[in-house]
Amino acid sequence: MSMNASEDAVGFADLGLRPELLQALAGLGYEEPTPIQHAAIPPLLQGRDLLGQAATGTGKTAAFALPVLQHMLGDRADAGPVALVLVPTRELAVQVSQAFHRYGRDLGARVLPIYGGQPIGQQLRGLERGVDVVVATPGRALDHIGRGSLALRGVATIVLDEADEMLDMGFAEDIEAILEGISGNRQTVLFSATMPSRVDRIARRYLRDPVRIEMGCQATAAGTGPLVRQSAYVVTRGQKPAALGRVLEVEVPSAAIVFCRTREEVDQLTETMNGRGYRAEALHGGMSQDQRDRVMGRLRNATADLLIATDLAARGLDIEHLTHVVNYDVPAAPEAYVHRIGRVGRAGREGVAITLAEPREHRMLKVIERVTKQRISVGRVPTIADLRARRLELTRAALQESLLTDDLERFRVVVETLAEEFDVMEVALAAVKLAHESLGSEVDDEEIPEVAEVPVRKRADLRDAEGGEGRRGRARTAGMTRVFLGVGRSTGIRPQDLVGAITGESRLGGRDIGAIEIADRFSLVEVPESAAGEVIAALRRTTIKGKKPTVRRERDSASRPDGKTTVLSTKRK
Ligand code: AMP
Repeated sequence: MSMNASEDAVGFADLGLRPELLQALAGLGYEEPTPIQHAAIPPLLQGRDLLGQAATGTGKTAAFALPVLQHMLGDRADAGPVALVLVPTRELAVQVSQAFHRYGRDLGARVLPIYGGQPIGQQLRGLERGVDVVVATPGRALDHIGRGSLALRGVATIVLDEADEMLDMGFAEDIEAILEGISGNRQTVLFSATMPSRVDRIARRYLRDPVRIEMGCQATAAGTGPLVRQSAYVVTRGQKPAALGRVLEVEVPSAAIVFCRTREEVDQLTETMNGRGYRAEALHGGMSQDQRDRVMGRLRNATADLLIATDLAARGLDIEHLTHVVNYDVPAAPEAYVHRIGRVGRAGREGVAITLAEPREHRMLKVIERVTKQRISVGRVPTIADLRARRLELTRAALQESLLTDDLERFRVVVETLAEEFDVMEVALAAVKLAHESLGSEVDDEEIPEVAEVPVRKRADLRDAEGGEGRRGRARTAGMTRVFLGVGRSTGIRPQDLVGAITGESRLGGRDIGAIEIADRFSLVEVPESAAGEVIAALRRTTIKGKKPTVRRERDSASRPDGKTTVLSTKRK
């Protein structure tokens, strides 16, 4: 079950990255490359083209960003960009730019996101000041290329990120036009979560003898016997600490290990969980052997019940009474998942594996299911009502145990005296209440909103979306409907105006409202299907920024079948 030993030893330094990059990665608390980084970085550093099948959560962004940054030479004040990264949405453009900034901090990398919907003047000024890396949506990139504001002369690497999504959004022609305009000497990198034939066609046409990387692994379900119950909850990042608390309270582990991606996350979560009354201990590669030994000691003698760790630090640990493994993030590869959950369910005991996934990471769960050949049931985060019910159940179980095992005679006199005045049932109720309160802990009274499993394209690339219906971000959230309003940016509409109008006029709260898209002349707002009629009626009665806009359900221009996810192969080359 253990991973290949030589693979274990490979750190970022062994991949041949520059010291400035290694320093930035250490500063971010990354302890080791993910499998995709391990496989992609060396060939990319050699200048090879690459075709990678990888979903969000695998660490693919760093896999292409680090080699681009490595190739950036010293003083290049006047040169145009060396790399162009094409992404499907504004949201991803910003996210990928931030990643480049973080990794390229010590190299002084100048990174600019450009996407539809942002004023073009601001982008022109940014491009004029000089940039090393441009992260753009295809429509807007082409726009700048046409104006001459984005020079492709110096572009040595072009990355197509989430290529399947870009094609789904109707960007095929734009992408081809851009690729045709870049010199033959470029390095081309294509990442896609799925490999439909349209993506394959682009790859065959524009990639030269690419290295192929498919996420997945040889690992079989060996470690994941039927004794491990596997489930996942889809929550947003901000809700994770609360969700973890809920899940732990319902599950009542005797000892649990929670896996995080980085040292920073381990330290933060340990602090949060201790603040919530758990006895949590951190374990990561930044700690001395002494510190680690002490942590393990506290875990063994049960003065700690929650171990929060990185993969690296927890490798090889064998904790006897461990009942639960929690993945605070979806692990970067199925191997890591299999490895992590192999820590419970040993020696015939039942174990539980729980994964907290962000909505965008749902694909990764599917890949893991395929590799482990086991179902991961996606559940609802326990509600306040669930918690209350669970606590009553625990109180009942404690009372039952006491009835069966304790000598209760000395309390008889209390019950008998009270019984002269009250019904015995009432006496019991009061006793249960006291017992319950003495066992119980605080309930955090905020409900954790449910999020859908499908990826939510928040504010898809709007300006580019105006080109035609077919280009609009189409992925929807399950159970949600989009409402069309005939007012947009040209009327000065901001998301908060729409949220204000909806919450002011209907029963919905801000949290019930999903993604909001604002285009020049219209807006689209996701609301729960069950409330759509009410919201539409309410909005028709009201004015927004002094206007009485058209309000209707969005015409279903472009729903796509959702069963198109191709599960990734289980080979790694
Ligand atoms: P991505 O798949 O590129 O969206 O990355 C998923 C997440 O993993 C991001 O939050 C990254 O910051 C994080 N990440 C990427 N590489 C590593 C690594 N080697 N160690 C820890 N975290 C990482």
